[in-house]
Amino acid sequence: MQVLVIGGAGYIGSHVVRRLLDAGHKVHVLDNMYSGREENLFPEAGFTRGDILEYGPLATLMQQGWDAVVHLAAFKAAGESMVKPEKYSVNNICGTVNILNAMSESDVRRFVFSSSAAVYGEPEYLPVDEEHPARPENYYGFTKLEIERILSWYDKLRGIRFAALRYFNAAGYDPEGRVRGLERNPANLLPVIMEVALGTRERLDIFGDDYDTPDGTGIRDYVHVSDLADAHLQAMDYVSAQDRSLVVNLGSESGISVKEMVETARRVTGEKISAHVTDRRPGDPAKLVASSSRAHELLGWRAERSDVETLVRTSWEVYKGH
Ligand code: UDP
Repeated sequence: MQVLVIGGAGYIGSHVVRRLLDAGHKVHVLDNMYSGREENLFPEAGFTRGDILEYGPLATLMQQGWDAVVHLAAFKAAGESMVKPEKYSVNNICGTVNILNAMSESDVRRFVFSSSAAVYGEPEYLPVDEEHPARPENYYGFTKLEIERILSWYDKLRGIRFAALRYFNAAGYDPEGRVRGLERNPANLLPVIMEVALGTRERLDIFGDDYDTPDGTGIRDYVHVSDLADAHLQAMDYVSAQDRSLVVNLGSESGISVKEMVETARRVTGEKISAHVTDRRPGDPAKLVASSSRAHELLGWRAERSDVETLVRTSWEVYKGH
């Protein structure tokens, strides 16, 4: 298939591009390089530098007869979305609407969308399945949910079949070392730990150690980015073969605490990794773990590289080389 990957120079996007290329697809990347990195571009894929907010060039690119569009170009810092909602409205909502309008104009009918576990908000039960009420607690999660709702209308009205992939906590790097770009100003736990290990950040703030969890720190469901990349390929195939849309969680179904992540990183890197406990971060639930049984049933997908050791080791392989 000919696939347009929007945001393909980013952290998750570059892993998705790698996977699509490995599977023999023809890939073209559209990225404004705001968070994307040049070193994440693969010579086998085409590349256009451009912004989803510029409708004209986007619509022109869309006319090139793509079999599917994978869209990962969004801002993703939940905390920032609460203080800069406009930025998230414009990019995550208006930008995605532009893509969908360009698709319907050009008759492109398959769409794989990066959604998020942030659509659920504070969990009412665990593990969180797709039937769990969606009540986002941050504006970022709201933008993702809003697009999912728009998608179900474009499915009905325009025949655009979509896969909304609700990622839990993406982490790790390509185990074969083919993706080298580091995220700029990361706010997520594992890249922050890696920067402390590398010495480019002084210390890790642990956001609370008085949660109702075995060691008191927050528990999340971390899923290896190469597992996520596999799911994009499988979802694209599903949407094409079944001519049907789907919404699925992508998680490992197991939880890792902040302390466990830090301790594993100390062992794997041999670095001290200074950490101290600070206040809780507003809106953080104690524990968030996915049920991914729907992804297993419909796509045959399961996280296979998402154990704490592999997450930390594959990340450190990339960080220590910088
Ligand atoms: N966390 C932390 N310090 C940091 C970043 C994250 O203690 O500098 C904790 C956070 O409170 C949560 C977990 O690590 O329990 C994962 O947070 P992250 O921001 O990576 O993802 P989120 O779960 O918020 O999407």
